[in-house]
Amino acid sequence: MIKENSGEINGSQPLTKGDGVKYLPDTFYTSFLSDIAKNRKPSPIRSLFPLESRPGLISFLAGKPNATTFPFTSFSFTAQDPLNPDRDTALTIDGPALAQGLQYGDTSGLHGLLEWIHGLQENQHGRRRGEGWRVSVGAGSQDLIFKAVAALVNPGDPVLVESPVYAGVIPMFQSLDCEQIEVETDAHGICSSSLRSILENWPSGKLKPKVLYSVPYGCNPTGMTATLERRKEVLALSREHNFLILEDDPYFYLYYGDAPRPPSYFALELEEPEVGRVLRFDSLSKILSAGIRIGFASGPAPILNAIDRHTSTSNLQTSTLTQVIIHTLLKAWGYEGFITHTRNVAAFYRHKRDVFETALEKHLSGLAEWSSPQAGMFFWFKLLLNEQDGDSESIIRTKALERGVLALPGTAFLPNGRKTAYVRAAFSLTSEEEVNEAIRRLREVILEDRAA
Ligand code: PMP
Repeated sequence: MIKENSGEINGSQPLTKGDGVKYLPDTFYTSFLSDIAKNRKPSPIRSLFPLESRPGLISFLAGKPNATTFPFTSFSFTAQDPLNPDRDTALTIDGPALAQGLQYGDTSGLHGLLEWIHGLQENQHGRRRGEGWRVSVGAGSQDLIFKAVAALVNPGDPVLVESPVYAGVIPMFQSLDCEQIEVETDAHGICSSSLRSILENWPSGKLKPKVLYSVPYGCNPTGMTATLERRKEVLALSREHNFLILEDDPYFYLYYGDAPRPPSYFALELEEPEVGRVLRFDSLSKILSAGIRIGFASGPAPILNAIDRHTSTSNLQTSTLTQVIIHTLLKAWGYEGFITHTRNVAAFYRHKRDVFETALEKHLSGLAEWSSPQAGMFFWFKLLLNEQDGDSESIIRTKALERGVLALPGTAFLPNGRKTAYVRAAFSLTSEEEVNEAIRRLREVILEDRAA
């Protein structure tokens, strides 16, 4: 049987700080919120939802359908038990949990799931509950990142993005006509010296960037994991130059490096004189299910409130049913089971990384350059083509594809679309045999280019 929620994470370092942590006041965020966010009013109905749980209250408030008319009588599923790998466990959702799952729910998320997430963030990032930050659940982290960008960025604003950057945020900033200021990265994370140089040489009189976007573990696309030193430098710069860090961290639990995992920005900022510059995005997509569409944002309440106001006018809330399913599983596993599961997943991807790297070494030594990722599911490698610093675009989109290999040319991850010899390969799905065959075919393509 799966153990009941123990409230403790086996083997992880508790990071919880004592009192003494000073949070930035809510008024600090006024100058960060976009005009749209400031103009968005709370939903007159959803903002009163919490009152409905008041004992004795009779509510005529919302147009909630009567759940007794719904045809579902229970949901049952089986799931692995990470603490008991030999036996799956059967879980059933019925009674009040089912009623909750079938009904509209609070905009920020299901109460029990939010509580579970608070406990996780305390255990993993040392963030004590109720201290100047809160959590909202979204339909994947993408949903929350999109809403956070809308909450913080005005059309035309300059924004700092690590470069190369997750291709999924480029259109968000493009649609707002933002100037995307690319900050150089290497295998150790954001190059803080180039960030410093950008900020120190910022033209006087020009609006300064309010946000920096980064994926600090197993970056999509570069695979890099930022070192502790770089993280500290970036945090110090956020204080000196007054910007917020959008920490998009779907690969946090996919860290498989040999060195101890560096703390997240969300944890590290507890050492800052004032806390509240980090808005963190977690995703369950890479560890529980991508299709179930659950992610969560953790950070300063004024920004989370703005995100919730957006939700209450767009999709109203994340599916209550999927939240109930996930909460049922997480409650059954407990934190210990959850962390054990994430370690198993990380070990799975570490093996995939090794298989891919062995194939790279075998077929592309001298024909490509790469650094070995310490987390995540991406290899970012540079083709050593005929032309010095050549362009991977045509080779990947035409010649590699003609030979039956599909990967993404690096230009897809550069906001200004400039050419690059880099390629991103996701190694999450392919077998050892497929990887070997694909990299062998790439070798042929590169050799052909070099011979041309
Ligand atoms: N951020 C990054 C860096 C990602 O790689 C992804 C998934 N491709 C997302 C966000 C979106 O994840 P989710 O499924 O949680 O919306």
